[in-house]
Amino acid sequence: MIRHRRTKIVATLGPASSSPEVIRKLFDAGADVFRLNFSHGKHEDHKATHAIIREIEARSGRAIAILTDMQGPKLRIGSFVNDAVMLTVGDKFRLDLDESLGDQRRAPLPHPEILAAIKEGTDLLIDDGRVRLRLEKVGADFIEGIVTVGGKLTNRKGVNVPGAVLPISPLTKKDRRDLDYALELGVDWIGLSFVQRPEDIDEARARIGTRAGIIAKIEKPAAIDRLSDIIERADGIMVARGDLGVELPLEEVPGLQKRIVRAARSAGKPVIIATQMLESMVRSPTPTRAEISDVATAVYDGADAVMLSAESAAGEYPVEAVETMDRIARQVERDPFYESLMRANDTNPEATTADAITAAARQVAETLNAAAVVTFSTSGTTALRAARERPGVPYIICLTPRRETARRLALVWGIHSVEVEDARNFADMVKRACDVAKHEGIAKDGDRLVITAGVPFGTPGMTNVLRVAWIGEESHPA
Ligand code: PGA
Ligand code: MN
Repeated sequence: MIRHRRTKIVATLGPASSSPEVIRKLFDAGADVFRLNFSHGKHEDHKATHAIIREIEARSGRAIAILTDMQGPKLRIGSFVNDAVMLTVGDKFRLDLDESLGDQRRAPLPHPEILAAIKEGTDLLIDDGRVRLRLEKVGADFIEGIVTVGGKLTNRKGVNVPGAVLPISPLTKKDRRDLDYALELGVDWIGLSFVQRPEDIDEARARIGTRAGIIAKIEKPAAIDRLSDIIERADGIMVARGDLGVELPLEEVPGLQKRIVRAARSAGKPVIIATQMLESMVRSPTPTRAEISDVATAVYDGADAVMLSAESAAGEYPVEAVETMDRIARQVERDPFYESLMRANDTNPEATTADAITAAARQVAETLNAAAVVTFSTSGTTALRAARERPGVPYIICLTPRRETARRLALVWGIHSVEVEDARNFADMVKRACDVAKHEGIAKDGDRLVITAGVPFGTPGMTNVLRVAWIGEESHPA
């Protein structure tokens, strides 16, 4: 089963999409990756969803990636005596470690670590920035400030402190339990929320090992400051525009999105654009012009994937939302302007044999108008380098003996993975590539393939040959 676009679609699952019927429809409509958000739902529910996805995968024969998002250190205030208070600009308001219910003058903030890390003059954002405090006093067990943006405050609302790097782990106690559970189920990607520093990735890596790829969600100004080091240590990146737009002025988000996409692509790591892409489709069967333009922009920028959150998890039109993304991506990728934008953002290959071969494969494939670039890749590294080139061909076929690799690469631009045994020799390599391309409906007799592999066969990380093959040559040797 093949898709007719190279940009991938991530669909978050939730109450609107928990049944086998809906998940199957999302897959048929074009979802390549399913996201399980561990901020919501019980372990048993995620387990059931996981089983449904693997069942659909087995029946379709197409590898599906599962991305599990950790909630991360989301800070929250406690609750109020009457469940809510109304704050007005100029009011004094205090947050403290006292656990008793809040009122007009104070609320509990059960996070001693932030009290220790912030200074007077800092802006504190509550409820996605709907209420703001400028801090004037920071004590050992309280902080106090003046309300600069007023509004209603209700129980357990989130708190953001954009100006500070907080000395907190990217994995809370809940995250560690969730993570172990997700890895036990067998998921392909772990999304790390509120990453602040490169060391956060190392901490997660120590627990995850190679069992899943790590996606660093970029949603803090501190992460922007350390972007290249974070990209280097992570396996993938998410432009998490929801929290990023709370922590930074909203008008800075589009420029940052372009910068992050370019940096991730240049590093050869997959990058996802997330949040509110088709937000109005939560309630409406058609999106706005602006939303279509937003999805199209992400595709023109060369993002690996576009993501649906509430639209597919809790909306009234989850399937229509995936269909909409699919249509937009296909249209954009047909535009000749798309190809020229990809070329304009090319960066030089690294000075390695594998990268040189991979870059050459793109040129040869484009010159010959090949049906696909084919990589033999055990770990997926070579396939990632091939995707980094954004070759102007319809597919990058990754032939891999490892199911985990096939699944993980479902997130990556252009890659269509197929599980095969390692090639035994050169002729076998050509035959396998041609058989798969033909069987999958990617190429027909007379079409050409550009194949890269490592010789001797079966040695990972050794890509050193490039071979042009044409479908049918096995039966009519040239
Ligand atoms: P979330 O992450 O949906 O888990 O908060 C995405 C974002 O912040 O945009
Ligand atoms: Mn977020």
